[in-house]
Amino acid sequence: MPRRLPIYLLLDCSESMVGEPLKSVELGVNQMLSSLRKNPYALETAFISVITFAAKAKVAQPLRELIEVRPPTLALRPGTCLGAALDLLAGSIKNDVVKTTDREKGDFRPLAFILTDGQPTDDWEKAAKKIKEIKPKLANIYAIGCGDEVNFQILAQIADSCVHVNELDQDSLSKLFVWLTASVQSSIASPDDPLSLEKIPLEKGMELVSPDRLPQLQTTNKRLFFHLKCRNTRKNYLMRYKLSPNSSIYQAEDAFPLPDDFFSDGALKAPPVDSSKFSGSVNCPYCGGPSWVMCSCGQLCCLDPPIQAGRQIVCPACERVLTLGIPGSGGDFSVGGSVG
Ligand SMILES: [Zn+2]
Ligand SMILES: [Zn+2]
Repeated sequence: MPRRLPIYLLLDCSESMVGEPLKSVELGVNQMLSSLRKNPYALETAFISVITFAAKAKVAQPLRELIEVRPPTLALRPGTCLGAALDLLAGSIKNDVVKTTDREKGDFRPLAFILTDGQPTDDWEKAAKKIKEIKPKLANIYAIGCGDEVNFQILAQIADSCVHVNELDQDSLSKLFVWLTASVQSSIASPDDPLSLEKIPLEKGMELVSPDRLPQLQTTNKRLFFHLKCRNTRKNYLMRYKLSPNSSIYQAEDAFPLPDDFFSDGALKAPPVDSSKFSGSVNCPYCGGPSWVMCSCGQLCCLDPPIQAGRQIVCPACERVLTLGIPGSGGDFSVGGSVG
């Protein structure tokens, strides 16, 4: 039997990946698998596993030979439990990788790629220690941070090399997967040497992150996410606000329906933000309600016309009757959002 090269992909499915980014990653993995399948040596050598992480981490694809790997469907969830994902990685490597003995050569040392757009929301340090302990069994871990809210200070403590992808759009992510595929192809060509990222030309919009000059983490979040409930369908949705350039105001940007089981893994709260800091609204993706209100229970819900003072509506979470005030006269309040 030919020696196997185990490759682990750790994919961030946190809510900040909602919409285009998550779809682009799904598509990217799919395309990567198809191009690798055209390489006869990859078909013999490459074994792939996919670990997803958000509120929890999960082995979405156990380690299998290329031909048996199914492109994973990525499920959006709150939170970024990178620590839990590293725990699973350490456990998988212990279980999966065949050791070299006197009688036979075992597997090549595995590679792991972490793809994330934010910062861990769990205890990543304990898991990072576990990874260090099994490090002799592992060739290298590569961290790919996408967008401008990546915590490279943390990633640099986990990974051997870090790459920054500047934008989170479809174009940048599809280029990232072209590069990732080339990196995997190169590892398959010389599985005894840990992949040297300097050798793989970077695509436009990507750069290697030098450990001596780690990008500073932004102190202001560029994007905020609010969880809302449609009053008419009781379904959940997510509204994204984006910080306007050169100001402290967040502008409503997009709204996304959430799967019914979105919160089943436990939601994470972020510090409340003053309501005067955001502007505009995006229509409810279910009923088209053009605005939203917050109940005193903390639930945000969509608001359909007529939007006029004195109208009574029922909170879809706590069933309390709310009376709409005069728009703009209610004073400021704080809204609990999250940073994904
Ligand atoms: Zn609605
Ligand atoms: Zn309520």
